[in-house]
Amino acid sequence: MSSTPGGGAKVAAALPAEAVKISVDPSTEPFWQAARERRLVAPRCADCGTFRLPPTPFCWRCQSAAVDWTELSGRASVYTYTVVDGYPGLPGITLVPVVVDLPDAPGARLVSNVVGVDPADVSIGTELTVDFHPISDGWLLPVFRVFRVAGQPAQERRA
Ligand SMILES: [Zn+2]
Repeated sequence: MSSTPGGGAKVAAALPAEAVKISVDPSTEPFWQAARERRLVAPRCADCGTFRLPPTPFCWRCQSAAVDWTELSGRASVYTYTVVDGYPGLPGITLVPVVVDLPDAPGARLVSNVVGVDPADVSIGTELTVDFHPISDGWLLPVFRVFRVAGQPAQERRA
């Protein structure tokens, strides 16, 4: 475990709700509506089966506009990440922006944040599970918590 000069272990946080505002359009609104119901979904081309995240109006592979919204398990793993100390107006915050692989949406990746863990316990391949964090205007943002730290048993998922 790493520690800050103050002595306490660092814990990756999410930004305060008022710091995150989203805008939705017809191609992204189903994603955000599902998140508001604490469900993680991904758009999958109804013609060729390609997952397309971030959501797009047309399939990059076959140009179809037809889409099926597929509910995912919420399991993910770290594809890449970074650790950010401080944010404008929040000098004490630690953020861990992450790009995750989604095992049940092959080929799709999602940009998010890992929260609730010492950044020293995050590495490429770390297993994650989705959680939902309040943001502006009543929306919920999908974030990820560590499901299993290498060499340790799985953590209990918080309600
Ligand atoms: Zn397609």
